[in-house]
Amino acid sequence: KEALDILIVGGGPIGLACGIEARKAGLSYLIVEKGCLVNSLFNYPLHMTFFSTADRLEIGGLPFPSINPKPNRMEALEYYRRVSDVSEVNINLFEEVRNIEPTPHGMYTINTSKAQYQARHVIIATGFYDIPNLLGIPGEELPKVRHYYYDPHFYYKQKLVVVGANNSAADVALETWRRGAEVTMVIRQAELQSIKYWVKPDLQNRIDEGSIKAYFQSTLTEVRENEVDVRTPDGKVTLANDFVMAMTGYKPNFSFLENVGIRLSDDEQKHPTYNPETMETNMPRMYLAGVVCGGMDTRVWFIENSREHAVKIVKHIVEREQVGS
Ligand code: FAD
Repeated sequence: KEALDILIVGGGPIGLACGIEARKAGLSYLIVEKGCLVNSLFNYPLHMTFFSTADRLEIGGLPFPSINPKPNRMEALEYYRRVSDVSEVNINLFEEVRNIEPTPHGMYTINTSKAQYQARHVIIATGFYDIPNLLGIPGEELPKVRHYYYDPHFYYKQKLVVVGANNSAADVALETWRRGAEVTMVIRQAELQSIKYWVKPDLQNRIDEGSIKAYFQSTLTEVRENEVDVRTPDGKVTLANDFVMAMTGYKPNFSFLENVGIRLSDDEQKHPTYNPETMETNMPRMYLAGVVCGGMDTRVWFIENSREHAVKIVKHIVEREQVGS
């Protein structure tokens, strides 16, 4: 098989944007995605609405019309499918990249769950939504403890503990409470903090009126089949419980990054090494694109400010090929 100019790992919005730029530049490329198209977005909560307006989710210069200021998950899936069709994106779905090895001839060999490829350049656009931050407490392995939330109907008449106080925790608490769940939030901080400004008053009011119970400055310490323990400023509280939604965020697959040779910073943030001008990593001709770039800082990058990675990377590849280095 002929070597590709670029192999792109991950078919999220930014992986797609990289494919579109490669095509515009006349380079051969393939996107390899381990799940369905825009797999992370597919796994978002069923009724989620983006915090970005539609124009900020656009890639490849293709318009994303939406009659709402902020599109929902269904509209975004529709949009990225249409983008993939219109741009005739080369993408293999349900194929996982397992390892990437440099060859002595300035190439990379990429082994996937289905095949082996050779490519001169590799772009890693693997996002951060596959690995949740664990609580590290006894009982976390029980199936009733969940890190991904889909449909609120499931929790009707259930006793639910929601851990965390970020946007996802706020959405879960409000949506499930509105669909008949009995909701208790366990929040490390003393008050609600970084929640979308149009959601925060709704949650604050539900807490103030007692519809949603909240323990502030508190942590979940143990989960059992029918109850949980919470450490509060007033001592340990045991609550009857059916489900725990641990909305404690997600992180990039650091061992994948290290295995392919990318250096991470020594601190807790584990920032991957790359040149912000070109997005090239410490591995020559291997690039990073999209939200994976932030390490543990998963709030730094989103679609709007990382879609330009695609343009930078392809420009760098084209310029480098021209000077023949
Ligand atoms: P992703 O979309 O995560 O794509 C990475 C892809 O790589 C995935 O499809 C994954 O399956 C694939 N992959 C991973 N490992 C492998 C492998 N080894 N082999 C093959 N494929 C692999 N951002 C915004 O800009 N606006 C918003 O409103 C917004 N709302 C959000 C709401 C929620 C609930 C969450 C969790 C995130 C939100 N974000 C939002 C952040 C958003 O997820 C990212 O901006 C966007 O998905 C980033 O695209 P990406 O292509 O970098 O990563």
